[in-house]
Amino acid sequence: MDINYILNEHGEDRANYFHAVAPPIIRSSNFAFKNVAHFRAAILDEMDSHVYTRGNNPTVEILRKKIAALEKTEDALLTASGSAAISAAIMAIVSQGDHVICVKNPYSWTKSLLTSYLPRFGVETTYVEGTNPKEIFAAIKSNTKVLYLESPNTFTFEIQDLSMCAQWATQHGIVSMIDNSYCSPIFQQPADFGIDLVLHSVTKYINGHSDIVAGVICGSKEHLKRIFFNEYMTLGAILSPADAAWILRAIRTLPIRMERIHDTTMEVVKVLKKHPKVERMYYPFDPDFPQYALAKKQMTGSGGLFTIAVKDSSIEKINLFVDKLKRFKLAVSWGGHESLILPIAPLYHLEGRNDPHIPFNYVRVYIGLEDADYLLEELLDAMEIL
Ligand SMILES: *Cc1c(COP(=O)(O)O)cnc(C)c1O
Repeated sequence: MDINYILNEHGEDRANYFHAVAPPIIRSSNFAFKNVAHFRAAILDEMDSHVYTRGNNPTVEILRKKIAALEKTEDALLTASGSAAISAAIMAIVSQGDHVICVKNPYSWTKSLLTSYLPRFGVETTYVEGTNPKEIFAAIKSNTKVLYLESPNTFTFEIQDLSMCAQWATQHGIVSMIDNSYCSPIFQQPADFGIDLVLHSVTKYINGHSDIVAGVICGSKEHLKRIFFNEYMTLGAILSPADAAWILRAIRTLPIRMERIHDTTMEVVKVLKKHPKVERMYYPFDPDFPQYALAKKQMTGSGGLFTIAVKDSSIEKINLFVDKLKRFKLAVSWGGHESLILPIAPLYHLEGRNDPHIPFNYVRVYIGLEDADYLLEELLDAMEIL
C-alpha cells in the first residue's frame, strides 16, 4: 500500500462522519444495536465490530489500520503504553514452564518483565548477545516459545539478523517478536523479514511530540486475535479514543519527521566523530559501526539516537558539560521534536543505589527537529569542558 494513501486515506470512513477531514473522537464507551441480529453478529466479531471501547473503538480503529499498513501486517492493537504492548505480546504466548530467548540489553521494563515478573509464573528467560545468530540458536530448549528481539536497542544499538532469526524461529515453532521503536515503521518493517509480532512504544516516534504514552502490537490476525481475547481484553491496558485522535494527527507527519531526524543526526554524528573528546561513536549508520552492513541491509534509515563514549574525562566534568546544555534537555525517553541528552555519569554514587553497569563516560544523545548547526553550536561549545 502506498504510504501517501496510508497516511491520508486508509482506515478513514469520512462519509460516515459528515466528510470531516480530521476523524472525530468517538468517546462512547459502548455502542447500541439496531436489533438482535446485529447484536449477535457483533458479539461474534468483537475485535472488528463496535461493542465496547475496551475492545474496538472507531477512532482507535483508524489508527490500528494505519499502523498495521505501515508495518505491512494484517492488523494492529493499540495499548496504553509500549510496556503494555510488550507484556501483552509476550504473556499471550507463554504458559507456566515455558522459556523465552531474549537479547541481552532490552528496554529496562522488558527486562523487568522477563527477570522479575514472569518467573513468578514459572516462565524462564535466557539472555543472548544477539549479534551472532548461532549464539541465539544455541539457546533453544524444548520449551522455548518466544524469541524476543530489539534491533537496534536504544543505547548501544546492537542489531540482530532479522531474516535469519525469523526463519529459524518459524522452523522451530517459536514466535518471534521485535521491539521496533528505534526505527519506527518508516525505517524498518520486520514483518518483511518474517518476524511474527512487531511492537512499538508509540510514545516515541509514532506520536513524536512528547505528549502521549502509548504502544502498539502488529502482526497476523491469528496472533492478534489470541492477544485480543486474552491479555488485551482481560488486562485492559487500552488506548483512549482521545489519545488515538492525537496520534492520528501526529502520524501524518511521521515520514517527514523521520527523514529530517535522520539527515540531521547523520550530520551531527559526522562532526562529533572527529572530535578529540569522542573515544567511540555508537550509531548504526556510522560506517565504522561494527554491524554497519547489516544495519544498511535491514534499515532504510537510522533514528536520532546515538551514544558517545567520552575520552579522558571524569564524572564531574561530564556532569558540568551536561549542566551547560540548554538546547538539549536532560531527560529520559526520546522520539519527540526536542533534542535530549541522557548521560550515565550522574547515575553514579547515588545514595542507596548500585552504580550502573554502563561506564560513566557514556552519553546518549537524541536529535530532534532542530537544525544541525543550532545543535552543534551548543554541543561543541559545551564539550570544551570535557
Ligand atoms: C520507551 C520504550 C519502551 C516503553 O514504552 P512506553 O511507551 O514508555 O511504555 C519500550 N521499548 C523501547 C525501545 C523504548 O524506548
